[in-house]
Amino acid sequence: MDRVDCVVIGAGVIGLAVARRLAQAGRELIILEAAEGIGTVTSSRNSEVIHAGIYYRAGSLMARMCVGGRRALYEYCADHFIPHRNCGKLIVATTRAETVKLQSIRTHAEANGVHDLQTLSGDAARALEPALSCDAALLSPSTGIIDSHAFMLALRGDAEEAGAVCAFHAPLLRAKARAGRIELDAGGNAPASLECRLLVNAAGLGAPAVARSIDGMPIELIPPAYLAKGNYFSCTARAPFSHLIYPVPEPGGLGVHLTLDMAGQARFGPDVEWVETIDYSVDPARAERFYPAIRRYWPTLPDGALVPGYSGIRPKIVPPAVAVQDFLIQGPRDHGIDGLINLFGIESPGLTSSLAIADYVGELADQ
Ligand SMILES: Cc1cc2nc3c(=O)[nH]c(=O)nc-3n(C[C@H](O)[C@H](O)[C@H](O)COP(=O)(O)OP(=O)(O)OC[C@H]3O[C@@H](n4cnc5c(N)ncnc54)[C@H](O)[C@@H]3O)c2cc1C
Repeated sequence: MDRVDCVVIGAGVIGLAVARRLAQAGRELIILEAAEGIGTVTSSRNSEVIHAGIYYRAGSLMARMCVGGRRALYEYCADHFIPHRNCGKLIVATTRAETVKLQSIRTHAEANGVHDLQTLSGDAARALEPALSCDAALLSPSTGIIDSHAFMLALRGDAEEAGAVCAFHAPLLRAKARAGRIELDAGGNAPASLECRLLVNAAGLGAPAVARSIDGMPIELIPPAYLAKGNYFSCTARAPFSHLIYPVPEPGGLGVHLTLDMAGQARFGPDVEWVETIDYSVDPARAERFYPAIRRYWPTLPDGALVPGYSGIRPKIVPPAVAVQDFLIQGPRDHGIDGLINLFGIESPGLTSSLAIADYVGELADQ
C-alpha cells in the first residue's frame, strides 16, 4: 500500500483550492477525482458571480467565508491574470413594499461586513441602466464575475507546482480509519490502495456518500443529501445591461436574476427545482415563469428571447421546508476521526468563498 501525507477527494473548485493551500504549506498530496478532469460538475455549472456577501445569516460560515473569500479572490485574480470583471450588481425594487425592504437588506449586509452598498432612486438606477424599470435600487459595487475555468486551472497549476498530483478516473470507493492513519481504496482505470494522515472530503454533491463510505465515520453526523436544481435560460436578444440585475429576494430564493458571462452574454436564472436524481437537461416550459418575473424590471424583454441554457445542482443538506443552510465543515473535534475533514453543503457562494474555505481547512488540518 502506497503512503502519502494527504488525499483530497474531488477536483472541483473547493478540492483544488484546498489542495493548493495544503501543498503550498509543504504537504505531500494527491487529489483523487472520479471524473476525467477538473471542475466538470457543480464548479462548471454555476453563475460565475463573485458575491459580495449580502444575504447570508450574520456570523454564519457562509457570511464569513464569502466576505473573506471575495477579497482574496479579487487579489488572486489580479495577481494571476484571471479574467474577471468587477461589474457591480443592482438589487431592484419594483413596488413600494420592495423599496421598504431595501433598507433591511442594507442593514443585514452591514452586519456581514459589507459596507459599500449604495441606495439609489429609480432615476439614479436608470442613469446607470437606462432600460431598467424600478422604483429604487441598491448598488453593490463589490459584486463581480469571473472566468471560473481559468481560476481552476490556476489553482491546479499552483497546487502541482507545489508538488500535488491529480489522479483522474479515480473515484474513492471506501476508506477505513485506524490508529491515526486512514486507509483508502480508489477504483477506476488504475485501482489503488493508499494510506494517508489527512483525508479531505471535497466531493461536492457526492460528499455525504463519500462520508458514508468511511468506516468509523459516525453515521448520525452525516447530513442527508437533497438536490436543488437551478435552471438557466440564455437570452437571444441583446440585453442592454452592464451590471448584474437582481430582484428583491423572495422567501426561498433570490428571484429570477440576470447575470452576464465574461463575453457579455446575458443569462437568467437559476430557478429552484427540487429533484430526486441528477439530470442536467433544462425543460423549455420553465421559461413561462421567467418572462413575467424578468419583465417586472425589464419590460421590453422580447417574446421568444429565452432559450434553455444549462443547469446546475445545489448540494443541499436541508430539506425544501428549511429556507437557510450553512456550509458544514467537520474536523476531528466534530466526528472523532483523526485526520478527516468533511465539507458538506458547499453551495453558492462556494466559488467566491473557495480561497477562504481552503484557509479554514488548512487551519483545521494544522490543529
Ligand atoms: C446553480 C448554481 C449556481 C451557483 N452560482 C454561484 C455563483 O455565482 N457564485 C458562487 O460563489 N458560487 C456559486 N455556486 C456554488 C459553487 O458552484 C459551488 O459552491 C462550488 O462549485 C462547489 O465546488 P465543489 O468543489 O465543492 O464541488 P464540485 O465542483 O461538484 O466538485 C466535486 C468533485 O468531486 C468529485 N467526486 C464526487 N465523488 C467522488 C468520489 N467518490 N471520488 C472522487 N471524486 C469524487 C466530482 O466528480 C467533482 O469533480 C452555484 C452553484 C449552483 C448549483
